[in-house]
Amino acid sequence: MKSWRASLLRFGEHGHAVFERDGLLVTGPGADGRAVVLAAGDHAALSPRYADVPCTHLPGRIIAPGFVDTHIHYPQLDVIGSPAEGLLPWLEHYTFPHEAQFADRAHATEVATFFCDELMRHGVTTALTFCTSHPASVDALFSEAQRRDLRLIAGKVLQDRHSPDGVRDETEQSLIDTEALIKKWHGADRLGYAITPRFAPSCTEQQLRGAGELAARYPDVWIQSHVAENVHEIEWARALFPDSRSYLAIYADHGLMRRRAMYAHCIHFDDDDRALMRETQTAAAVCPTSNLFLGSGFFDFAGAERVPFLHALASDVGGGASFSPFITMRAAYFAARATSTGLQPKPGVSLSPEHLWWLHTAGAARALDLEGVIGNLQPGCEADFVVLNPEATPLLARRTRAAGSLAELLFALIVLGDDRVVERTVIAAPQQGAPSLRPA
Ligand SMILES: [Zn+2]
Repeated sequence: MKSWRASLLRFGEHGHAVFERDGLLVTGPGADGRAVVLAAGDHAALSPRYADVPCTHLPGRIIAPGFVDTHIHYPQLDVIGSPAEGLLPWLEHYTFPHEAQFADRAHATEVATFFCDELMRHGVTTALTFCTSHPASVDALFSEAQRRDLRLIAGKVLQDRHSPDGVRDETEQSLIDTEALIKKWHGADRLGYAITPRFAPSCTEQQLRGAGELAARYPDVWIQSHVAENVHEIEWARALFPDSRSYLAIYADHGLMRRRAMYAHCIHFDDDDRALMRETQTAAAVCPTSNLFLGSGFFDFAGAERVPFLHALASDVGGGASFSPFITMRAAYFAARATSTGLQPKPGVSLSPEHLWWLHTAGAARALDLEGVIGNLQPGCEADFVVLNPEATPLLARRTRAAGSLAELLFALIVLGDDRVVERTVIAAPQQGAPSLRPA
């Protein structure tokens, strides 16, 4: 067992923030030998029960759940910050040529290593990640995540049409490869597989149908794709699948909407789309820095309150502009405030700092069907957490010292914070003396 004494942030069952200014976090081996939270709460109340447990005292620091990124592309690490007119030219000029290089395992390993370093440096302890269409890209990322004991979900991209040579795959082989990767990686240590059609316009009817059949055969495997990001993309998808009611409905019509399915963007929705998300327990990955960068529009938070469905925050690197959950939360706040007019007017809302933080931790875990497993520091959760320094910059120090409430403290971190705030990222590694699941 180990314990940490610092300010402690976690979340209650209904998403409300729980905060102890002088808190104690106690961790120890869970059923599989990996570190889990044994106790969390006020230091004065808990410390007598754990007096014999070694304690790391971190005065002035905040311990908070590791962040969960619900949509990111590891092969787009070197595409971040590439200028383009919009989504489709950006894919053609930057993304596809870069992704073509991932047929080479050595290249994929080098990028995967940098990618995992960058996630951890920013306090992200779980990510739902796109790879490329090459199985070697999946092996490279999972090997690296396994070496670090990260809980990570990823999958080989499916794209058998409207894609250039070098990234386009072949229908039947792509499904064979996907099933082989599921058997190889899903449930290995902390890893999970995601069936990954790039987006409907890049997949033939047969490939989408095959992906849906795999999703039915492996109900615990995740599904990830993109939907309703950009108006040109929507027109294209509707023209290719004229029998489906909407762009989103294409996925439902091919068996790709269910629990553990996560769709990035979900910007241009109507209430029937929202109801379809809710009925199928499908989740949206909201990617505000990417939406700002590519000028795609804004997720309608008020709409998702009116017809509630699962949604959480995501960076969408390399369309997204930063790995930092602080910068994503800040952009989500701005995007939620922004109103729009036109065919589907969007009213602005002011999201609370506690809710923004929840959408990137415990709420993201709920969207991934991993509630109580990650994204929180309640007893039983895997002990992935971050140590934050609220005085990491002069302005942050000045502002957080003057904070009169938890909301003010969290909002100062959201508005002014970035990777400098993240002092340490702790991963729920196998505990000493406990049997390791992985051969040394
Ligand atoms: Zn994306």
